[in-house]
Amino acid sequence: MNNTIALEQAHIVPTYVRPEVVFTHGEGPYLFAEDGSRYLDFTSGIAVTSLGHSHPEWVAAVQAQAAKLVHVSNLYHTEPHVGVAKRIADNSFGDRVFFCNSGAEATEGALKFARKYAKQSDNADKVQLIGFSAGFHGRTMGALAVTYKEKYRTPFKPVMPGAGLGTFNDIDGLDGLIDDNTAAVIVEPMQGEGGVNPADREFLQGLRALCDKHDALLIFDEVQVGLGRTGKLWAHEHFGVMPDIMTLAKPLANGLPIGAIVCSEKVAQVMAPGDHGSTFAAGPLVCRAAEVTFDIINTPDFLANVTEIGDYLKAELSAIDSPHIKQVRGIGLLLGIEMDVEVGPLVAAARDHGLLVISAGPNVLRLAPALTITKEHADEALAVLKQVIANA
Ligand SMILES: *Cc1c(COP(=O)(O)O)cnc(C)c1O
Repeated sequence: MNNTIALEQAHIVPTYVRPEVVFTHGEGPYLFAEDGSRYLDFTSGIAVTSLGHSHPEWVAAVQAQAAKLVHVSNLYHTEPHVGVAKRIADNSFGDRVFFCNSGAEATEGALKFARKYAKQSDNADKVQLIGFSAGFHGRTMGALAVTYKEKYRTPFKPVMPGAGLGTFNDIDGLDGLIDDNTAAVIVEPMQGEGGVNPADREFLQGLRALCDKHDALLIFDEVQVGLGRTGKLWAHEHFGVMPDIMTLAKPLANGLPIGAIVCSEKVAQVMAPGDHGSTFAAGPLVCRAAEVTFDIINTPDFLANVTEIGDYLKAELSAIDSPHIKQVRGIGLLLGIEMDVEVGPLVAAARDHGLLVISAGPNVLRLAPALTITKEHADEALAVLKQVIANA
């Protein structure tokens, strides 16, 4: 057996089942393995490396910053920290940003901000946090409480109390779930892990209205869909509904660990020194990487490519004539192919043909390539997918 795989089996906590391939390097949308084989990467490390692997500008900025300054903690000022915050604030509903290190941490922080905000009311019971079916917000105790999948939650019960779950895209079915005791509602404008499910505009509008009515905060989890993945800078721009808080993470530094809680001034003002913190977060290295990533993604041409290639891929996938395809859905370059069979074997078959894709639940193939791909890359992936689906 390969030495790396043998050591993994001896020493790594068995929370992941990994295929027998060891990657050594990447270039653009391609990954290269120890045995010399090349893969077209339509996963981007789960919607993280939006610029592709080893993007030259990103590499140069990270190398230069690593040689200059990497970490001083949040006790001191550094320029890249405010550089990323200003970029986000200038280009979103948000006024202020708190940085953390991951998506789950962004969820935790957002829920804390919401609980603190609710403390301003006279209602001591205003603590409830509402998530939705098929929603995913991370694996920590607070995030798990608003994450749907029983498999993630049940073995670790009790998770954080004071949480409830409604049905995604069913505003009429909420039936009083959101009321004056609600501190916040958290929802993905398009669900990623839960099956690549875009929200209905009316659903998000309905949530906005209910949150306004009950003075609850509306949190959009854009950890997977934010920063250009859908062809707009933020996914919620497709729906014309604004949140009070938005969480970001996956692509924000193109592969270095970072998360962010973006919020309006009214929310930010309830947080005081000492209320929240992080040792590692917002360091100059990761923030320099985020500055470069943001500047490359936030241009009309870059975003137009996401829409153009995303629409092309979706149209070509929709045209595949297979009795096993139930639906092709998604926006931009986060696409889901819902099948009437389990997709695990299809993911493996695609990999055998040099294409990496992932699942989103048992029946949905998920495509999340680098946002820099061309039509030729899309065609290369389509050729493999057509063959694999034909053999399903
Ligand atoms: C991945 C993801 C998270 C959790 O992010 P981690 O960095 O893995 O903790 C939260 N929300 C959404 C929508 C995600 O896709």
